Amino acid sequence: MYEKLELLINGQFRQGSEGKSEPVYNPATGEVLGALPHASKADLDEALAASEKAYKIWRGQTALSRQKVLEKACRILEDRFDEVAENLTKEMGKPLAESKLELGVAIDVIRWYGEEGKRIYGRTVLPRMAGIAQTVRKDPVGPVIAFVAWNFPALNVVRKVAGALAAGCSVIIKPSEETPGTAIAIARALVEAGVPDGAVNMVFGVPAEVSEHLCSSPIPRKLSFTGSVPVGIHLQKLAAENMIKCTMELGGHSPVMVFEDGDIEKAAKIAAAGKYRNAGQVCVSPTRFFVQKSVHGKFVDAFVSEVDNLNIGDGMDDGVTMGPLIADRRIDVMDGLVQDAVAQGANLLRGGSRLNRPGSFYAPTVLDNVSDDARIMNDEPFGPVAPIDSFASVDEVIARANRLPFGLAAYAFTEDPALIARLKEDVETGLLAVNSTVVSVPETPFGGIKHSGYGSEGGIEGLEAFLTTRFVSETY
Ligand code: NAD
Repeated sequence: MYEKLELLINGQFRQGSEGKSEPVYNPATGEVLGALPHASKADLDEALAASEKAYKIWRGQTALSRQKVLEKACRILEDRFDEVAENLTKEMGKPLAESKLELGVAIDVIRWYGEEGKRIYGRTVLPRMAGIAQTVRKDPVGPVIAFVAWNFPALNVVRKVAGALAAGCSVIIKPSEETPGTAIAIARALVEAGVPDGAVNMVFGVPAEVSEHLCSSPIPRKLSFTGSVPVGIHLQKLAAENMIKCTMELGGHSPVMVFEDGDIEKAAKIAAAGKYRNAGQVCVSPTRFFVQKSVHGKFVDAFVSEVDNLNIGDGMDDGVTMGPLIADRRIDVMDGLVQDAVAQGANLLRGGSRLNRPGSFYAPTVLDNVSDDARIMNDEPFGPVAPIDSFASVDEVIARANRLPFGLAAYAFTEDPALIARLKEDVETGLLAVNSTVVSVPETPFGGIKHSGYGSEGGIEGLEAFLTTRFVSETY
């Protein structure tokens, strides 16, 4: 059964006070899964007041007791694993195997943050004179507000909520209205595990209205966002009015640099698996493919044969390896990007159109000889379209990789240690993977530079984002 859709305010799961709601759809079938309540301004005010009150209670608990609550939430989610993963696929569309992987990592993230919360350290600084003690403290930053996108309905939520809770903060989160069921299942596990009333609040509504209302309150001290660059810039402006500290986890346009010395077939296999994971709807998805001239043809042939092996369908069906896009609006974006690239001389090797079946399906698409002038080489595609081009020299490919304002992830395939050393220095990216597309595990920092945002999630840096540094000087 799909999750019962409710708000969570001050420890109560309930409907919105004005009775407004919106339908939630299964993007693979178009079926309505449920009606999602919207929070009214009065509901948001209640959540703000509850988060302020709960913050004082939660930060007063020991790190060990907070860890026990987070651990219990992990066990509750593990008990409900199959049901939550199935609902994730129903509302988001990704294949069930990917949903299970995501949920497993999400539980790992909660567990990791819970444990790491026990290792928040300050320090003592030696004084310049006798009779003085100087202490640097790391304290929870305060009540947190968070807004997250739909592409990782479990992971995007726990990266904010578990980090905030482990640091001793309360949180109001607005997950995506398109994928609320997974988020609500996580909220239920946390409430059942014993978070105090108001320490976690979950609201839904018209995104711009909710964020504007929450940012105009003096209560939040931290805003954390996962989504697109324009929305991130807008939210930073709102946050600035109340001096709310931000973490921005925004979009990217990740270059893939394939050099002639490497195993080209292996590179094509790994790059295609990374590209079509979650139908390309991943912020670190490989999105601009640059292949050294001498191996360009070999790479393209191998890449296309990987695409021919994809099995497109409803993520609930056995053997499906790529599901639909989140909604029809993304199909229009894909069509526009593909048509523009072809008009500018690109060769369409596979796909390029919507699939003729119910749901928001777009064919996995491969474009070759795509010039940097094409829109797809400049705008983040966020879908199953791979634009490929060749390059002649290392200098050229590094310049093209760095050409855009984004700086989230970059990938390189080579065995040459000197070249790898150069890429580590010169590629402007927050995350670099060599000979793989793996850039995210719970214990490592995840985040971009340039317009892809700032601040990290995961690793000790992810916990630091929910802390504030204070100094105390004592004279005896
Ligand atoms: P979008 O920017 O309209 O929405 C992205 C998310 O931000 C949604 O979940 C939405 O609820 C939320 N949002 C939008 N406006 C908001 C506001 N004013 N206040 C608070 N939250 C708000 O884009 P979309 O069409 O849903 O998705 C496509 C784009 O989103 C892509 O171009 C991609 O860059 C970006 N995206 C990035 C990530 C990421 O992990 N960095 C994830 C999903 C989407």
